[in-house]
Amino acid sequence: GCSCPDFMRKNWLLLSTVAAVLLGIGVGVLVREYGKLSNLDKFYFSFPGEVLMRMLKLVILPLIISSMITGVAALDSSVSGKIGLRAVVYYFCTTVIAVILGIVLVVTIKPGVPQSADEIDRVGSTPEVSTVDAMLDLIRNMFPENLVQACFQQYKTKREKVEATTGVDKNSSTATEEPVTTATTAEVLENKTQEYKIVGMYSDGINVLGLIVFCLVFGMVIGNMGEKGQVLVDFFNALNEATMKIVQIIMWYMPIGIVFLIAGKIIEVEDWEIFRKLGLYMATVLTGLAIHSTIILPLIYLVIVRKNPFRFAMGMAQALLTALMISSSSATLPVTFRCAEEKNFIDKRITRFVLPVGATINMDGTALYEAVAAVFIAQLNDLELDVGQIVTISVTATAASIGAAGVPQAGLVTMVIVLSAVGLPAEDVTLIIAVDWLLDRFRTMVNVLGDAFGTGIVEKLSKKELEQMDVSSDVNIVNPF
Ligand code: ASP
Repeated sequence: GCSCPDFMRKNWLLLSTVAAVLLGIGVGVLVREYGKLSNLDKFYFSFPGEVLMRMLKLVILPLIISSMITGVAALDSSVSGKIGLRAVVYYFCTTVIAVILGIVLVVTIKPGVPQSADEIDRVGSTPEVSTVDAMLDLIRNMFPENLVQACFQQYKTKREKVEATTGVDKNSSTATEEPVTTATTAEVLENKTQEYKIVGMYSDGINVLGLIVFCLVFGMVIGNMGEKGQVLVDFFNALNEATMKIVQIIMWYMPIGIVFLIAGKIIEVEDWEIFRKLGLYMATVLTGLAIHSTIILPLIYLVIVRKNPFRFAMGMAQALLTALMISSSSATLPVTFRCAEEKNFIDKRITRFVLPVGATINMDGTALYEAVAAVFIAQLNDLELDVGQIVTISVTATAASIGAAGVPQAGLVTMVIVLSAVGLPAEDVTLIIAVDWLLDRFRTMVNVLGDAFGTGIVEKLSKKELEQMDVSSDVNIVNPF
């Protein structure tokens, strides 16, 4: 008989999210056409979407901490070492493939060659971060001085207000730390109307990388402490379960938030003309992302896991849509967990380990985008890249994707590393800022898909160890002596 009602019952959340996206687009287009909204109205309009973002970010901290610690503690250290190594090899290989794909496409399509940089307006701000500073920042973040502070680290982005009038004094005292995460209505409004010049590295409200490093070590230590450590293991297991229950509640609100998030964005965009000017560049990035996510990653999954990759990807649909809507792998993490564990039935010992790390360092979409964008900017500048420079771009694009935090448009900032490595003007990122919000959504989606396939692949490769552990823990339960 027809299994439609059954399908709908099982996937109501996914279906309502899809409906929310469509409704949001419809409402956005209508209000844009017929509604006469002032800037303030626009800001209020997207408020329910802002609340959704806040809810998702809210659970990142307990989720990462509890899942990492319990994930590592559940494996004994030789097994976790092996699984960790497999995950890292997977992250690295897929990232490099993405970079190469991006380079091949941008060199063939040449989106920047018929144009020159002068034909495209520079918009917004100029990041100034040297490669060395960026690398040092990455390592610094791995070792937060203060664990508590790492949990509520504010945006580290230092910005200078760029005066609308000419003759800006770059070293004027307008440099401010912008705690975006705690911004009030007035501050957000001001942010939207002022242009800022970014003068420091970008970092999320939480130092995720630092927490991951600590939780890895902590989980390993309590996992090896035996009886004494057990109380901590139980505590974090309970915390993990409680957090996932909260995530479940947030999911109910998700469709509502998404309607306003997408509608608000459509209403807000001012300059659609730029999309025509940068059309070929965008097409190059999107083609690369499409090939990587529909051909390369599924093929790798198919070869290793020998199951239908598209069915697996469908299981992740909710997470992929969320990533597309909110452009943040970190904030999508709660949904990624749910899809991987409850739709694709991946072993929790794998997801807890592979997903948080993946969301932070495995960014195929970002890597591909960085490579394409850097070569595109070189083309705009009439610079012929030699093989050495192409290799430099590939290596730094990989590094920049690892260094980018899983927050909106982080990749745009770490792009500066890539540009400065081949001597391109860092301020040329301003050429592509205007369309970055759109590309960001798609690359974030590919980032999340890459992490998801990673769980399936690492699980398959670790079957033997996982089964052995099952046996030994069963023995413990049946016969404790
Ligand atoms: N927004 C992306 C992410 O969260 C990072 C990027 O800007 O490329 O995965």
